Amino acid sequence: PPPPPPRALASPRGAGLRLTDHPTCVDPQLRTCSDVAYNHTAFPTLLGLRSREAVEASSEYILLSVLHHLLEGQCNPDLRLLGCAVLAPRCGDGRVHRPCRHVCEDLREACQPAFDAIDMAWPYFLDCGSYFASVEEGCHDPLEKLRGAWGPGGCAGALGWDNRVTGLRSPLRSLYLPQVEPEVKLIGNIHGNEVAGREMLIYLAQYLCSEYLLGSPRIQRLLNTTRIHLLPSMNPDGYEVAAAEGAGYNGWTSGRQNAQNLDLNRNFPDLTSEYYRLEASGSIRSSRIPIPQHYWWGKVAPETKAIIKWMRTTPFVLSASLHGGDLVVSYPFDLSKHSQEEKFSPTPDEKMFKLLARAYADVHPMMMDRSENRCGGNFLKRGSIINGADWYSFTGGMSDFNYLHSNCFEVTVELGCVKFPPEEALYTIWQHNKEPLLNFVEMVHRGIKGVVMDKFGKPVKNARILVKGIRHDITTAPDGDYWRLLPPGSHIVIAQAPGYSKVIKKVTIPARMKRAGRVDFILQPLGTGPKKFLLGPRRSGSAVRDPLGGASPYGEPQEPLGARRQPSAGGSKPWWWSYFTSISQHKPRWLLKY
Ligand SMILES: [Zn+2]
Repeated sequence: PPPPPPRALASPRGAGLRLTDHPTCVDPQLRTCSDVAYNHTAFPTLLGLRSREAVEASSEYILLSVLHHLLEGQCNPDLRLLGCAVLAPRCGDGRVHRPCRHVCEDLREACQPAFDAIDMAWPYFLDCGSYFASVEEGCHDPLEKLRGAWGPGGCAGALGWDNRVTGLRSPLRSLYLPQVEPEVKLIGNIHGNEVAGREMLIYLAQYLCSEYLLGSPRIQRLLNTTRIHLLPSMNPDGYEVAAAEGAGYNGWTSGRQNAQNLDLNRNFPDLTSEYYRLEASGSIRSSRIPIPQHYWWGKVAPETKAIIKWMRTTPFVLSASLHGGDLVVSYPFDLSKHSQEEKFSPTPDEKMFKLLARAYADVHPMMMDRSENRCGGNFLKRGSIINGADWYSFTGGMSDFNYLHSNCFEVTVELGCVKFPPEEALYTIWQHNKEPLLNFVEMVHRGIKGVVMDKFGKPVKNARILVKGIRHDITTAPDGDYWRLLPPGSHIVIAQAPGYSKVIKKVTIPARMKRAGRVDFILQPLGTGPKKFLLGPRRSGSAVRDPLGGASPYGEPQEPLGARRQPSAGGSKPWWWSYFTSISQHKPRWLLKY
């Protein structure tokens, strides 16, 4: 028997779909819903909207188009497709096909916490009781296309495992995990005869996988919020030379270089000299210094080239390079500012780099060992961390290059004084480095993250994120997202991009945090809007107001997702409210919980 005709539905718009409406099947032609699994949609829609234009102007549709950013990628594209099945319902045989209620109910259960975390009510048009149908009524599954494409996920899928130097993510994976997770890389064995790092990263991969499957809350949270790339060996050729000699026989330097006899940690473009030159010539805010042409005329190892390519295709935030031969964590700059002299040469992010190095050293039992005769006793008084240039100065290092050419902060870890330890020592070395590695990777969530977009919700790539007092800028990735590692305290953060007015916000980073605070920026094109907004209206002191109205709604980093927040005092609206009211005449009051 044919399924029962749809009921009349009530919506905040007053007009629902009525029995008397005869739907026409047409091409959907809606950008946000272009990937639905069907070819025809019906007007009027399940919400009673009668044209494509009416749908596009609706705040329901606007919500779907920015849902990915609002929920930090969580629940998407699933939730968007569910919404599309209501806003652009499937049409066939002259009738509207409604999406399945059980799909709606599953998603509501999984996604409610993400809405709670941003103080947003569950959208009325995703009410599973109203706009959805049962299997018996002949519903369709709006996610069928996704289920087909994804296949089952497993722990291997949760890790960006790069066995050799490839670093390319498969298109499947980038669909599966939202782009707004920070990317971390750990690189071992850049010096072929310093082999402990390569073993540590294999231990780490095994540990992460098994703990994830065993349900460890810490590891599940880490892997669900972080993309971790492991490159156990950056110099497999050098390793082979050292391994042929074997543990206990390997000389101090044999196997250090690659097959072309190049030291890979001296082979990167020297942008630090360039940086010092720019700094000496006046004011400079460093940000992604380009590689000078002459670099490519010299000998560039394929391993180095592959890493540079990898860094360009993946917006890494944090990195560590694992070495051996001493026991210390060193951080940039590695090239001394004072030629011919080993001398403390900090980056503008000295404070943050120190925190990163400490995050490793402070939980490493040997690095914290107070006895003088341990390996690396030299660094005891410094807490086993040191500015690279203060130790020994060199050009062409990987860490300096990371900092000056990309948005990535990299430290160098010396795992112990034995470069090629015997097999039986490995498990102990792993036990010493397990907590430091985890603690270090978790540091990627210190600071702020967010999206820079224009008033239509379109991401702005290559926008600069400036922090007052730190003369080093971070830039946004192609999806408009950025990560800015920051030490605790108050910071003035500015987003700017060519053609847009800049937006200034004040943020406060607490001493302890599990997830980076979300700070989004909506940029207004230059030459439109009232002039007084271009400078950003200020109040006395350093309090900064959001140009879109209201006291800076991003002031405090948000609590972890899933934590319910109390209604804000004074009846002020959640941070995303100004976004909707700035671009649509319909105020979506149905998104407000209070
Ligand atoms: Zn080394």
